[in-house]
Amino acid sequence: MKNYKLDTLCVQAGYTPKTGESRIPPIYQSTTYYYEKTKDMADLFDLKSDGYFYSRLSNPTVAAFEGKVAALENGVCAIGCASGMSATTLAVFTVAGAGDNIVSSSAIYGGTYNLFAITLPKLGIECRFFNPDAPAEEIEKLIDGNTKMIFTETVANPAIVVLDFDKIAGIAKKHNVLFAVDNTLATPALCRPKEFGAHLVIHSSTKYLDGHAAALGGVIVDLGNFNFKNNARYQSFNKPDESYHGLVYADLPVAFGTKCRAQMIRDMGAIMSPQNAFISFIGCDTLALRMERHSKNAEKIAKFLSEHPKIEWINHPSLKNNRYHKLAQKYMPNGQGGMMSFGIKGSVDKCAAFMEALNLITQETHVADVRSCVLHPASTTHRQLSESDLKAAGVPHNLIRLSVGIENAEDIIEDLAQALEKV
Ligand SMILES: *Cc1c(COP(=O)(O)O)cnc(C)c1O
Repeated sequence: MKNYKLDTLCVQAGYTPKTGESRIPPIYQSTTYYYEKTKDMADLFDLKSDGYFYSRLSNPTVAAFEGKVAALENGVCAIGCASGMSATTLAVFTVAGAGDNIVSSSAIYGGTYNLFAITLPKLGIECRFFNPDAPAEEIEKLIDGNTKMIFTETVANPAIVVLDFDKIAGIAKKHNVLFAVDNTLATPALCRPKEFGAHLVIHSSTKYLDGHAAALGGVIVDLGNFNFKNNARYQSFNKPDESYHGLVYADLPVAFGTKCRAQMIRDMGAIMSPQNAFISFIGCDTLALRMERHSKNAEKIAKFLSEHPKIEWINHPSLKNNRYHKLAQKYMPNGQGGMMSFGIKGSVDKCAAFMEALNLITQETHVADVRSCVLHPASTTHRQLSESDLKAAGVPHNLIRLSVGIENAEDIIEDLAQALEKV
């Protein structure tokens, strides 16, 4: 499938039926699989052959979704997880253990920030945060012999910081460190991190991939372009795994993906369910179309808000005066997605008054689905963060996050206009 264009892959990749089989992937609602011969099953346990034996490790419906996302990101292997958070957690655990560290942008999703700043240190994994706007020399200083991953988001949620891929890819290359990108808000329809030097892509498929707010899910995509072999940083890839008869992951064609599934999914079990994989799979069919509309709508709405007298500031990379406009033109030239944030002039109470006056646009924790919605992060998703942490995450107190849906842009604008009038 690799030669097809992205919109074709959205529709066609991941599942090809044989004659007489169902046209779209059936939901294999089964925990287990039947084999006639003992040896067939033994080979599966030893990773000597491909197939299914227990749905905690793999399932045909989940595999269809994994195949589709792997194709969309041009990766060699994808792993479906229970949620975006479990995908990030398992990706970190695949490379890092107690005594190691990861280096991460500070402009990231609130849940990921908590995982990195609070939970991972309890397990002995330190996270060193950097300001995404900092020069390479400053970011580089955080890397030492125990650094196992550089973590970033293509478009940061909710700060809408666009990743400077060249800067981070340069650092990753120089120090031979795995470069991981959470591509949730850009999606492969707008940006494929592999083209800009990333080695690993993580998604919360809960957002645009599913697109309909119907199923939680996460995906890890091994892009197959990082060499773990004899890299002193990655001892655990170069030493035999005693739980698999001495398998050395760095010797395999799919090193990261195999280790992640064989160890992390096996031991932690945060796998995607077949039902959620099915929903996410059919969601991806329309991904390219939806991202085009989300981006076009957002462009019109950003323009409207930027000209409105009650708006103090607005942040969407489509705007020429936006700080990340140039980076967005370089890495996501065909559309910048539906996520934007803005601040209403005056006190914080105005945020609540505005949001409650909206009719079409609803208040939700969710983002990145077909319906337009708003959120005030400082009083919800980012509640746990102190004022200085909020600042570091790029979330001022009057920030309203707007996830622009695929409704008619005129209706969305009309709703915003009438609510602003009431503030
Ligand atoms: C939502 C989100 C996550 C977490 O995903 P869940 O599916 O909610 O666990 C991670 N990263 C980004 C950028 C997100 O928007």
